[in-house]
Amino acid sequence: MDAGSRASSSGLTAVGWSKIAFLEAPVCDGCSLPFAYDMGAGVRCPACEARPRAFERARAACLYDEHSRDLILQFKHADRLDLAKLFSLWLGRAAGELVEAADAVVPVPMHPLRLIRRRYNQAAEIARPLARRAGLAYWPGALKRKRAGESQAGKSGSGRRRNVQGAYVCSPGWEKRLQGKRILLVDDVMTTGATLDACAKALTRAGAAGVDAAVIARVRESDGVSI
Ligand SMILES: [Zn+2]
Repeated sequence: MDAGSRASSSGLTAVGWSKIAFLEAPVCDGCSLPFAYDMGAGVRCPACEARPRAFERARAACLYDEHSRDLILQFKHADRLDLAKLFSLWLGRAAGELVEAADAVVPVPMHPLRLIRRRYNQAAEIARPLARRAGLAYWPGALKRKRAGESQAGKSGSGRRRNVQGAYVCSPGWEKRLQGKRILLVDDVMTTGATLDACAKALTRAGAAGVDAAVIARVRESDGVSI
């Protein structure tokens, strides 16, 4: 299927589709920041070199800008659940290497109270078809968010880290299943990576051998796009 027909079948106009800034290699291995030049496999940007995170690699399908934001907000808040399949296809392509290395897919969980309000966890809606297509185990119950916490929106890098520190834990009884497994964490948007880092910490602490992350879109920090 070409881009145009795939776009229209998902309710995206071809023009809307053409404006999405898909991230293709070369990108930073740690955060998917696009590089101007190919510097070889596994190269990381200065920010990732300076601050290693609990997840090893991250891939984003596109940049979080005014074009992808509209689509993601519709998916999150306007019941556009039909977009989940499209996003999972994007992720399968952008994070192909990470999917291949993974044993199981785990979505970033939502606090139960927020889940009642929102009715679905957008990360789980993308992670499920991604796991199914790749033939991987899908473990939506492996992590839980124990504090409702405040939204990450409008917080600085250190504020975001503090806000999610200790907010995610491995669910009771999951240690045995996670032992020695490589996990692919899935979320919708990566801003500073603080949420993914907190989730990856909980998974590795529980015994996972390694954690990678895949998101629909990553914020280019210098853009100043707020969520
Ligand atoms: Zn990086």
